Amino acid sequence: MPGWLIKLRDVLTSRMVVRWGFLAFFLFAVSRLLAFVRWASGDGPYVHRPEAVAGLLPVGHFTSFFAWIKGGGWDTLLPAGLVIIIAAVVTSLLFKRGFCGWICPLGTVWESAALAGRKLMGGHNLRLPRWLDLVGRSFRYLIAAAIFFFLLMVPLQEAVNFRQLPYMWVADVKTIQSFANPVFILIFALAFVLSMLFGPVWCRWLCPLGAWYSVLGIASPCTVRRTESNCIHCHRCNDICHAFVDVEKAVSVRAPECDGCMDCVRVCPAEECLEATAPGGIRIAPWAWALMVVVLWLGIFGFAKFTGRWDTTIPDEVFKQVINSGQLQEKTPGGF
Ligand code: SF4
Ligand code: SF4
Repeated sequence: MPGWLIKLRDVLTSRMVVRWGFLAFFLFAVSRLLAFVRWASGDGPYVHRPEAVAGLLPVGHFTSFFAWIKGGGWDTLLPAGLVIIIAAVVTSLLFKRGFCGWICPLGTVWESAALAGRKLMGGHNLRLPRWLDLVGRSFRYLIAAAIFFFLLMVPLQEAVNFRQLPYMWVADVKTIQSFANPVFILIFALAFVLSMLFGPVWCRWLCPLGAWYSVLGIASPCTVRRTESNCIHCHRCNDICHAFVDVEKAVSVRAPECDGCMDCVRVCPAEECLEATAPGGIRIAPWAWALMVVVLWLGIFGFAKFTGRWDTTIPDEVFKQVINSGQLQEKTPGGF
């Protein structure tokens, strides 16, 4: 393969390019949702209601997920959220927390902040003392466990009723509205600065979803393996790992913080030393790992879309009534 084609392939499958692609799509979907609300408010032309913004309401859709698992049936009202949860679970289970590493739009913002911080601080984010890092990570798992058991205990009928609440149907718009709140802007700015200094603080110490996906990722059949006899102990893998994993000492990276970003595999200079592998020792090139994550994600979305499991069955006119019924009381950043 010509060198320029290899370069192009590597750029297109690099983590930040893939991540920014998903983030750009998500922001586009948000803008379409705001245009839909403008239409519903009689303030603009008709726009098809996008479903992907459902990703903003993970806890609500996890309620649907547990209801589905317990036999409460598929959510036909807002199924996109359920599809996104299933896709995130499958991706994280197969590709080491792959949702966090490659897709999550919020994670992309914090990763970008961390990257900017590394550039400004000579290549490294600051590291908290080990004990404090441990306290932070334990806190994340505690929150995750509490929410997990709470959602698991919600009675089936209540979970099914929950998704039928008109409040839930416009919760995505309400969430977007809250982004304009000065308190939110302040917290966001603070999290951005902290991420520049210490890496993605939200993902590492607070996000309960990330904690669930971390636990799933431990069981991932695809992982990063190191062959000690080929290692020249150059520290490059440890230096680049944004999750602070001690790759240089691992045989098989099982750390829950690893999100399969492939950065360590890409920088390792030693022949056949650090490699991503599938069961049976099958080697996965970093670009192929990225491609598989993207294809899996889009494949689940495509399957849901073409089998009628993605789009809402709530008619536009019903959304219009809910939007104009006082459910949305504050003005949104879109100006409606
Ligand atoms: S980058 Fe490769 S050679 Fe260097 S320490 Fe890590 S595993 Fe060993
Ligand atoms: S650099 Fe390697 S060990 Fe660290 S998160 Fe990425 S894939 Fe995992």
